[in-house]
Amino acid sequence: MQGIFTISLDFELHWGVFDKRDRKQREANYKNTLRIVPQMLQLFAEYDVHVTWATVGSLFAANQQEWELFKPAIEPDYAEERYSPYKWIRQNGMPSEYNWAHFCPEEVAMIEKYAGQELGTHTFSHYYCLEQQSEAKAFDADLKAVQKVALAKFNGQLRSLVFPRNQVNVKYLKVCYDNGIKAVRSNPSGWFWKPVDEGGASKLRRLFRTADAYIQVGTIRTTYPLNRIQVVPGEPLQLPASRFLRPWQPKYEFANKMQIRRTCEEMRSAARRGEVYHLWWHPENFGDYPEQNLNNLRILLEQYKKCKEKYGMTSWNMGEYVDHFMGKRAETSNTKKAGKILQ
Ligand SMILES: [Zn+2]
Repeated sequence: MQGIFTISLDFELHWGVFDKRDRKQREANYKNTLRIVPQMLQLFAEYDVHVTWATVGSLFAANQQEWELFKPAIEPDYAEERYSPYKWIRQNGMPSEYNWAHFCPEEVAMIEKYAGQELGTHTFSHYYCLEQQSEAKAFDADLKAVQKVALAKFNGQLRSLVFPRNQVNVKYLKVCYDNGIKAVRSNPSGWFWKPVDEGGASKLRRLFRTADAYIQVGTIRTTYPLNRIQVVPGEPLQLPASRFLRPWQPKYEFANKMQIRRTCEEMRSAARRGEVYHLWWHPENFGDYPEQNLNNLRILLEQYKKCKEKYGMTSWNMGEYVDHFMGKRAETSNTKKAGKILQ
């Protein structure tokens, strides 16, 4: 089997950090992010790299009025109220001068038009699956809102999902599947990557994760053979991530280089062994220093090109794993029910 290079991007604007960051202070970042989405799409097309854009469903709306029409019928009732975007909106509002923080239907439509790019979901509201909450039907309602907006805007159905903050909750897998989701991203192996709620992200855990970006920590490889992915009837495929691509940072020239070097090495190793290498980040991670981050991305894509030429490596988005493991036939019946598959 040839090696497979996969990228998944968590596209979210302010929905990903409304509980942590100030909207106004993030203005330049969000506007840069929206400006470089077309450039990233162009780069992926140039190198024929297939990417899943796990996009927050709210971004599909053009404005608050439209968002109100699509939002879920049931809201999550988090024990920690600050995790609810609905409560945040009731307090802070979404006036039209802040549309750049909450909505980007044009960029979402652009993703959908590129061959090899898959429009996936990051839930409708950046839903936290490991945070305590009491509305039993809220997650189901969130995913129903996702598919509703995808159907309304693109006459299609989304089949790949990334859990916000990587809070992978196996109890929610069936709900995903029943709402048309056939693949989810799971966490890399290694104890410091095990999913936890926000309170569980200890300092030691963070330290190991940070070190791991630059050097090998322990003996765990980040690449894996395709046959490690298991098909469980009635559940989506779980596709482990290999690595989070950290953003370029000023003053850390050495660390930036170390990380890119390590990522290239891992990709080469996957290509040589015929294994999977799954890289992920947020488009917003490029927003503070867009040019430097796009340069880094080009280095990685050049590495992929070499691996393709030398070892026959290929690139799949998350949906293409579904085609491989579950076959096109299962998908056709869904397509009939809800328009096309969005990739
Ligand atoms: Zn997120």
